[in-house]
Amino acid sequence: MAVSRLLGAMQERSAAFVGVRRDIHRHPELAFDEHRTAALVAGQLARWGYTVERGIGGTGVVGTLVRGQGARRLGLRADMDALPITEASGVEWASQRPGVMHACGHDGHTAMLLAAAQHLAEQGRFDGTLNLIFQPAEEGGGGALRMMDDGLFERFPCDGVFAMHNMPGVAQGTLVLREGAAMASSDYATITLTGTGGHGAMPQHAADPVVAAASLVMALQTVVSRNVDPLQAAVVTVGALNAGRANNVIPATATLELSVRALDREVRALLEHRIKALAAAQAESFGVHAQVDWRRGYAVLVNTPDETAFAREVALELLGADRVVPQGPPLTGSEDFAFMLERVPGSYLLIGNGDAADSRTCGGGCMVHHPGYDFNDANIAIGSAYWVLLAERFLHAEETRGAPPVAAESLQ
Ligand SMILES: [Zn+2]
Ligand SMILES: [Zn+2]
Repeated sequence: MAVSRLLGAMQERSAAFVGVRRDIHRHPELAFDEHRTAALVAGQLARWGYTVERGIGGTGVVGTLVRGQGARRLGLRADMDALPITEASGVEWASQRPGVMHACGHDGHTAMLLAAAQHLAEQGRFDGTLNLIFQPAEEGGGGALRMMDDGLFERFPCDGVFAMHNMPGVAQGTLVLREGAAMASSDYATITLTGTGGHGAMPQHAADPVVAAASLVMALQTVVSRNVDPLQAAVVTVGALNAGRANNVIPATATLELSVRALDREVRALLEHRIKALAAAQAESFGVHAQVDWRRGYAVLVNTPDETAFAREVALELLGADRVVPQGPPLTGSEDFAFMLERVPGSYLLIGNGDAADSRTCGGGCMVHHPGYDFNDANIAIGSAYWVLLAERFLHAEETRGAPPVAAESLQ
């Protein structure tokens, strides 16, 4: 199918999936609670002839379609979970569940992959195995890792995995690719400083954790400015600092909550090492004790070169150079697709959700995680067409590699 005809076909098909997207949007579900969404996904895939496995890593769903004798195996991943945010978008299809909202567009990601799934089942020209992965709990729950712990890639081996996320502020439908580190690792630390409480009028009898905490906050600023290579990116944010309740009492403890991000595995390790060392040394200098509870979150998301080059070629073939950013900037946000990319080569790309016209009301261009955000339904046709073309090209790879794209009309 010629690319223009594919776009036209997905445009026609997308009307039904705008309905699906808005239905999912009305019924958002938090991490690992995506029962209704998973049932909807599984039901549709089964109706179109996919072999469907449910309950992988909690509420995860995988739909598999095998065609021909080809040995290649492709994984395409969408996420299904919503966020604990009260929706203020004002749209007709707004959340019907108070305090829960699809504020990251995972409703749209699910709908795009479903539209592609239907088209590939009805008209897809491919030779090999297509694995459609619908994962739970991307928003901090590590649903990708849970699915992998549940044997995702042993049960559904893949030679390449790809995922797509919408991005407000980028022109609607523009695809943004990036080879290498594309999203940051995200780690968390709780530092508890324990001293000796006492009367606020007699500090000489106490070991004050508040002064130690204040000094530690400032000392932590030197990790990025003095320890990390200035050409590398890193973030150390002290997002919470809690100590004491009265002006005349020196408390016994103070706690700091940190968010720590990096775009490189070695920088990530350095941050952990330096933060722990600084906490211990600072505490010692104030006569208090530091305990650091370090929790590793999502890994650095690294797009592999060959698969990113391939994903970029597909984007250029579909949309042309005007609507493709071949090497976008890295982001300091995090994404648990990073874990899948540690196991299987692949690439994660962005699809523009439209410009943020007005930062107060957003005008449809709110940033993800904003209560006024909404997924741009115009992306369902483009995003699903991209998945269809990528699947057809990936699962014809032996014939097309190094050769011009498959003669489009001959596929009809
Ligand atoms: Zn999100
Ligand atoms: Zn998201």
